[in-house]
Amino acid sequence: MRDFGVTVFHAVPSFALRLAETARRLGVVEELKLRLAILGAETWTEAMRSKIEEALSLEAFNNYGFAEVCGPGVAVECMVREGLHVWEDHFLLEVVDPKTGEQVGVEEEGELVVTPLTREAMPLLRYRTGDIAKLLDVRSCDCGRTHRKISWIKGRVDDMVKVRGVGLYPSAVERIVASKKECNGHYLIVVRNLDELSLQVEVEDSTMKDGEQLKHLKEQLEKELKKATMLRFNVNLLPPGALPRSTGKTKRIIDERTWQPHRET
Ligand SMILES: [Zn+2]
Repeated sequence: MRDFGVTVFHAVPSFALRLAETARRLGVVEELKLRLAILGAETWTEAMRSKIEEALSLEAFNNYGFAEVCGPGVAVECMVREGLHVWEDHFLLEVVDPKTGEQVGVEEEGELVVTPLTREAMPLLRYRTGDIAKLLDVRSCDCGRTHRKISWIKGRVDDMVKVRGVGLYPSAVERIVASKKECNGHYLIVVRNLDELSLQVEVEDSTMKDGEQLKHLKEQLEKELKKATMLRFNVNLLPPGALPRSTGKTKRIIDERTWQPHRET
């Protein structure tokens, strides 16, 4: 990127975070000419966006797509950055209740169902994506486009876990973790037997050395997580690099329960 003067790249958000980490370690952030990042294909949040933008001094835009149609590019954010415009001339998009398959209303969360209109050779009809989002109640946008907009993807139908009867999406946790300057954005949720919840979070080196700050951060995270998810977490703070880095999509939640009284079938 430094040698070729790269200004724009497209990646999964966790890769952008890893790129920032590596650039910082090599001391080359200042030498990069990055301007824009188009990120998607993983569930991420506005808080994570700010973290990536700050670390790489660029503007990041959310992008939605999936391999079964065209990869990235079913919907993308414009400069206004309030929802993603669907390419409606190529895709018919519906939002349904994942249990019943019935359509839900505008501004109601559900599973995205996509029918490509112009794709050849492998047609798909009302393809269930497994992604949870909602259609936004806006018909015009300050950018001038009239294509309708969807929200950020909240999660996947299958990455919600039930803990003590409460539905938990990793994105709810990420919003809190990524908003803390002491955390570097890497985290992992682990659910153990008896619905015991733990959150492993990497913190910056400087915080790791400060016992008082660590204690305060742990308390703060546990309090905010309880408030946002209605669940009690045991937070473990780890040094940078302690959690595994993935080369593909990052796994944010591990369910180790062998007996799951609350899991719905
Ligand atoms: Zn727009």
